[in-house]
Amino acid sequence: MKITCHFQPDSSEVDRWIRHFSQLLPDAEVTRWQPGDAPADYAFIWNPSRQFITEQTRLKAMFNAGAGVDAFLKLGLPVSCPLIRLEDAGMGEQMSDYVVQAALHHFRGFDRFQEQQQAALWRQRAPSDKADFPVGVLGFGVLGQRVARDLSAHGFAVHAWARSDRDTIDGIRLFHGEHALGEFLAATRILACLLPLTPETENILNRENLGRLRRGAYVINVARGAHVVDDDLIAAIDEGQIAGATLDVFREEPLPRSHPFWRHPRVRVTPHIAAISLYSDSVRQVVEKIRRIEAGLPVTGVVDTGRGY
Ligand code: NDP
Repeated sequence: MKITCHFQPDSSEVDRWIRHFSQLLPDAEVTRWQPGDAPADYAFIWNPSRQFITEQTRLKAMFNAGAGVDAFLKLGLPVSCPLIRLEDAGMGEQMSDYVVQAALHHFRGFDRFQEQQQAALWRQRAPSDKADFPVGVLGFGVLGQRVARDLSAHGFAVHAWARSDRDTIDGIRLFHGEHALGEFLAATRILACLLPLTPETENILNRENLGRLRRGAYVINVARGAHVVDDDLIAAIDEGQIAGATLDVFREEPLPRSHPFWRHPRVRVTPHIAAISLYSDSVRQVVEKIRRIEAGLPVTGVVDTGRGY
């Protein structure tokens, strides 16, 4: 079996992925793709080049080295085999830790305590009531469900929004479809975005939708930067409609040094670290799926390229 690995920009990371694949599949030939290479059976990719796609025509499947496939689909390349994404693979726990800490940070008013510390000001605050901070999770997929469950376990009232009317989890009210977005937002004080980036979800956190949240709401974006209209978010914060934001993802990454998010007192910025693809968990998942495909069994995580996720 031949597995080819192709990442753009090309980096030393590829060697680490190759080592992990070789450990789990010692009989397989696992290589870094070079133009003109013979056809491989499987590919492990990130942002592949057009030349790679046009040359590697005999793949049984292509595995995306992340949960989100927007970067791949944006390339507009023809896909002649299943494109399979990572599902959790160790990211769920990281994502949940991140969103739970951000929700607690906003709920407990830690921004205010940081400001007080700057002024050496000792001033206690009465505790807020979680009943006043219902959390809305945009996107109820692999990561959204994990986050919703853990927020609920922390005592938050949680509701979620998905595209389809799917099964929910005990205690979590599910809204679905465009028509239900307004009601979902109106019920939300802390909004966590875990949507895939598609033509339908791009710019979803715009002036209109931010204005439909409860006044004094908080925004946590761990999905993709292009879900947020940056100027609209800053205006909504400055007007008091939004009380603060925790942002991990941005339209342009690295976030340019001149971007106002860096210095806004109500915005917290992290450098796209909410959930990192882990070598061993990811490769174990991909290898398990390769074994299933070889055995003629179905696999999960196959991307619907028409739908965009
Ligand atoms: P999934 O594909 O499992 O879940 C996507 C969810 O979004 C589904 O519930 C889906 O609805 C819903 N959805 C999609 N389109 C719409 C729409 N138009 N209207 C309403 N709901 C919609 O994705 P994951 O949970 O695995 O990942 C989510 C995203 O997290 C990734 O796409 C990526 O962008 C981001 N991510 C960020 C990381 C970081 O470090 N910041 C790391 C990993 C991922 P339905 O259930 O009906 O299909």
